[in-house]
Amino acid sequence: MVGNNKDGDENHAGWVFNIQRYAVHDGPGIRTTVFLKGCPLQCLWCCNPESQHIEPVIVFWQDRCIDCGNCLAVCPSSAISDDIDHHKRIDTRQCDHCGLCVDQCYAGALEQVGKLRTARDILDGVEEDRSFYAESGGGMTLSGGEPLAQPGFAYHLLKGAQARGIGTALETSGFASWQVWKKLLPYLDLILYDLKEVDPVQHRHFTGVSNKLILENLKLLAQTGKPVIVRRPVIPGYNDNPQSIHALGRFVQELGTVSEIDLLPYHRMGQNKYKQLGQEYVMGDAPTMKDDEVTGLRDILVSYGLTVKIGG
Ligand code: SF4
Ligand code: SF4
Repeated sequence: MVGNNKDGDENHAGWVFNIQRYAVHDGPGIRTTVFLKGCPLQCLWCCNPESQHIEPVIVFWQDRCIDCGNCLAVCPSSAISDDIDHHKRIDTRQCDHCGLCVDQCYAGALEQVGKLRTARDILDGVEEDRSFYAESGGGMTLSGGEPLAQPGFAYHLLKGAQARGIGTALETSGFASWQVWKKLLPYLDLILYDLKEVDPVQHRHFTGVSNKLILENLKLLAQTGKPVIVRRPVIPGYNDNPQSIHALGRFVQELGTVSEIDLLPYHRMGQNKYKQLGQEYVMGDAPTMKDDEVTGLRDILVSYGLTVKIGG
């Protein structure tokens, strides 16, 4: 972890790959969503593959490349290779993020995704939209990646936002130790908790990790009285079957204190990013889901006494 760990220190720095202003789907009101890099899960359908490593990644835009060869010549780590079709591949195991290739690419075909920023720098930017938060009941949302993959940075961002009178929300897979959760809880107004699958075997297949910790943390969170909204990305052919949705409804109903589930229909907006990163898009031709295709699944969850929104 980068930065100073003193309590409440806005000089603490962490890796950020995007900041979205005027967001309206990441919690109540108008919000600024800060996307932190790094994620311990590897969901097959991940729409932000550039977020998975904590360190920066180099993205290649083939349509801008003029094939000048500067990047190949300048890279001190020999991390860049040239495909038969002149597509440049960056080996993330070799790349040490020096940024020389980006500096020498005058065509703008290479971009470094991920910057080291201090909590103060981020919060100063978030604060610029304070008037929108006040009028709409909005605030700052931490997302990712998995924001809890940088727990110290998340802590200083949330604590700093609260000290500045800005509402906070966390969008998370829940995959972190309860020790981390306990430290963050006092600074959280809302938790948007992604639950991809209740069945443990299927969860590991979809995400590469066990859901034991995720389910345990959700049960503990439900006992704290903190507002929690469960979110389910609905992926055709994976977790869109009635059996999976019934299991979700039962689990959330038994929590007793969580009453809302948001269904997030699958889309292919991340597909091009895989090409730019030189990675395979394993979802292939999986169809996108329209809101009206999800209504049958919504009705199952409603039968468990839950409030269900489509799209969040
Ligand atoms: S430096 Fe940029 S334009 Fe030149 S070959 Fe590399 S990616 Fe293409
Ligand atoms: S960032 Fe540096 S090490 Fe990585 S590919 Fe570019 S030149 Fe090579």
